[in-house]
Amino acid sequence: MADVQEAFLQGQLLERRQKLEMALATYRRNDSLQELLDEVDSALERMKAGTFGLCETCHDPIEKARLIADPLARYCLDHLTARQRRALEQDLELASKLQRGLLPREHLAYAGWDICYHYRPLGLVSGDYCDVVAHQNESEDVYFALGDVSGKGVAACMLMSQLHAIFRTLVTSGLTLQALVERASRVFCQSTISSLFATLVVVRAGQAGEIEVCNAGHCPALLFQGGKLVELGATGVPLGLFCEGVYPTEKAEMACGDTLLLYTDGASEARSANEAEYGVERLKQLIASSRGQPASALVGACINDLDEFRAGAPLQDDLTIMAIRRVA
Ligand SMILES: [Zn+2]
Repeated sequence: MADVQEAFLQGQLLERRQKLEMALATYRRNDSLQELLDEVDSALERMKAGTFGLCETCHDPIEKARLIADPLARYCLDHLTARQRRALEQDLELASKLQRGLLPREHLAYAGWDICYHYRPLGLVSGDYCDVVAHQNESEDVYFALGDVSGKGVAACMLMSQLHAIFRTLVTSGLTLQALVERASRVFCQSTISSLFATLVVVRAGQAGEIEVCNAGHCPALLFQGGKLVELGATGVPLGLFCEGVYPTEKAEMACGDTLLLYTDGASEARSANEAEYGVERLKQLIASSRGQPASALVGACINDLDEFRAGAPLQDDLTIMAIRRVA
């Protein structure tokens, strides 16, 4: 796998080298172009010498995602210069702002659905995907999506925005939910160059309260229906593992007061100070005891309970919780 990636990067570097040489021949004397060409040559030399991708200070591998984004990188995150570090921090802040811009409104009332979510990245950016796609016309179905990209930080954030783009494009194409997730899996699989994957749960909800759920390797959705709790677990593997995944769906009817809770493992696998796992049982109890309250009250109760359980222990992962309540 590493060899495949290095061959890919080598191809990219050779291509850049050719472009730089053409630019140098065409433009007037430009020292920065010559410096870039020297850097490209130096990276190609490191590939030959077998030291490509290793930090020149500590000799540990440079973070994979950074190397893919910039094959000229020569230092790991810990050994950047002050200027490089500042530039990286500014990039991260911008990425965080852009990512927040991709999120839906935090509270939404649509065609008899009361929707609320809480999105908490571990750092500046998150690998969780959270989306609500509703049309102007309330007679159209509304889609809820919650996903979790493997890994954390910048690489996961980049894949999250990719998942957002894929889902947003496919959702308007009139596909059935199963076909939509199968297509998303294929596109996601073909467009990621490393072994990263994403879990995803998608709900299509109609104006009469009917729902269809497709769960690709994600935590079980919790449906509280007529006083009983139903778990809607995965029917397929996470996206990106295999291009030809099959994703059957499950259907249910939600009546007034019924609730669906979606969450990422940042919630269910959160740990307390003595390493106990939060789990899903407490979430189930919270759903049952939040009967008759709005979606925002349930999300608030989950966050409060989780914070109380952790009692100051730091979160280990990005965290997202979404509650969808039938109100009409
Ligand atoms: Zn280093």
